[in-house]
Amino acid sequence: MPTIRILSDRVANQIAAGEVIERPAAVIKELVENSLDAGATRIEIEFRHGGRSYMRVEDNGKGMTKDDALLSLERHATSKIVETVDLDRLGTFGFRGEALPSIASVARFELQTRTAEATAGTEVSVNGGKLLHVRECGLAPGTRITVMHLFNAVPARRKFLKSDATESAHIIQAVRLYALACPQTAFTLIEDGRVLFQSPVCLTLMERVAEIFGRQLAADLLPVETSEEGLKLSGLIGRPGVSRTARHEMITFVNRRPVDSRTLNYALIESYATLLPKGRYPVAVLFLELDPAAVDVNVHPAKREVRFRSEGQVRGFVIRAVLQLLRETGHAAPVASTNPDAGARIAEWQRASSFPAPAVPLAPPAVASASVPAQAAISHQPSSVTTPPTQFSIPPFSPFRVPPTVIRPPTAAPFPVARNPALAGWRFIGTVHGDYALFESPAGVVVMDRRAAHERVWFERLQLDFTQGELASQRLLFAIPVEFDAIGSALLLDRLDWLAKHGLEVGEFGRNFFRIEAVPTWLEPEVAEDFLRDVLGLIRDGRLDEKNPRLAEEELARLAAQKAVRLPESTNETDALALVSRLFSCSQPHTSPAGRPTHFELSRGELARRFQR
Ligand code: ADP
Ligand code: MG
Repeated sequence: MPTIRILSDRVANQIAAGEVIERPAAVIKELVENSLDAGATRIEIEFRHGGRSYMRVEDNGKGMTKDDALLSLERHATSKIVETVDLDRLGTFGFRGEALPSIASVARFELQTRTAEATAGTEVSVNGGKLLHVRECGLAPGTRITVMHLFNAVPARRKFLKSDATESAHIIQAVRLYALACPQTAFTLIEDGRVLFQSPVCLTLMERVAEIFGRQLAADLLPVETSEEGLKLSGLIGRPGVSRTARHEMITFVNRRPVDSRTLNYALIESYATLLPKGRYPVAVLFLELDPAAVDVNVHPAKREVRFRSEGQVRGFVIRAVLQLLRETGHAAPVASTNPDAGARIAEWQRASSFPAPAVPLAPPAVASASVPAQAAISHQPSSVTTPPTQFSIPPFSPFRVPPTVIRPPTAAPFPVARNPALAGWRFIGTVHGDYALFESPAGVVVMDRRAAHERVWFERLQLDFTQGELASQRLLFAIPVEFDAIGSALLLDRLDWLAKHGLEVGEFGRNFFRIEAVPTWLEPEVAEDFLRDVLGLIRDGRLDEKNPRLAEEELARLAAQKAVRLPESTNETDALALVSRLFSCSQPHTSPAGRPTHFELSRGELARRFQR
């Protein structure tokens, strides 16, 4: 017979830790929340090895007395609520009194704290939930918490940690969120001894955004501020031309708490629906404030999700507010994703070249170079002529970007197009609805999604190039200046060599400023900046880790195939059959790199059956 026993606090804490503390970033999040709840105006965060070996959060908040310091490590010890009804008027990030005991139960934990009135501080040291010592210590008023060897004694949890780079990306993201939530608090973030970012007290959200994301992005944002029946929305939203491949710059807060709210995300995506190209996400830093009683923050262990009592009202309010602003600023009309003039030029070039491609740059085609102004003509010279350092913000398609028409001479196709025996008896019928190519095959009718096929072909071609190290790049006549935020810059600096190895040469050019000096031959210079931003987005999300070259190259090839390599706008029989032929030479011809089908066949039998022949 099993006997029922009450778990010891230590075991209970370790179990609770499993829910609240899933990774180093969760520790940082809890500690930073505590610092903010303690009224800190300055917070310093340091970590090493993605947080696994060392994390420190130090603040100048109100600190704790010796008694409180000891109490804070007890389960369910909180100074923030007394009864459940207090949740309805919650003004703090914390309320469960679980974080400190949970963290202390799965790491080597040291708390040093001092109130302004006390003459000395208190130091409490714990290892895996066991108290080691309590003593006085010297300390300025505030609190310093150090967490070392996270999950060392809990192998089951340690196993779930990802690479240092991934864990570090999560920490950085978490700190960015709180830095945005509280512009009036100064933040410093240090990784492996290097300052990743340091933002002083900011007076406005816009200033903080500029500190974190760079001035360029800040200039691309529009301020929102509106309220209605107990709901208030404020913050910044991107102008419609500004978009990202990933959602990580759609940042939402509810009563200052960073949340991942489907309601808010969907409302944003919906508001921008007609304004952004497919597969792109808006950029926004949005704060929703409402009566704490109208939102339940206690539905997720890490409080990442929230539930609104009235989802429909919140959604409607956000959509109206965003649309209204976009309309006022004259942005609510659909915008083309590419400049029509550029589109026409690209189409013209593609007609001449049949398929964009080259690994080996050849001489520029006579047709194309003849039609292009001499000033922008081809860029095989070294980039001794560069943009003056003051030229930071350039309008799209300014003469500083080399027109795509001349940069890339057409040469070899991604795969040799031999007369493919498998295509004997195939006939191209035409395209329908732009993207679909229709063929008659001996066995029936084939419908091919040109985009999906094109992406597959390019994906495999680029992967092959990467593994063979065959990466030709084109030096730009005028380097493209780009600004990143401090974190982006730090991440980029570490990867300049890796990017150069893949044909994208980026040079550092002052604090947070860079110049794209050369691009791979498959990349339109006009989208180079966007491409680099997307690459950095993947790095930030931990999806592109150069220490894992095979996976990193796969991600890079996927992004390039999807975005950087343009699909010709129209197609003719030769090109369409060439595309099928290349598709069929692929190792996985049936799906796009994103997993969409590339084509399907309706057999003659199926046709006969449908027409009841
Ligand atoms: P919660 O935040 O849910 O109350 P925690 O376990 O995170 O629970 O913290 C327990 C208590 O310790 C808090 O309620 C607060 O009183 C105190 N505390 C924790 N961190 C700090 C800090 N940095 N400064 C001052 N007090 C703190
Ligand atoms: Mg807390």
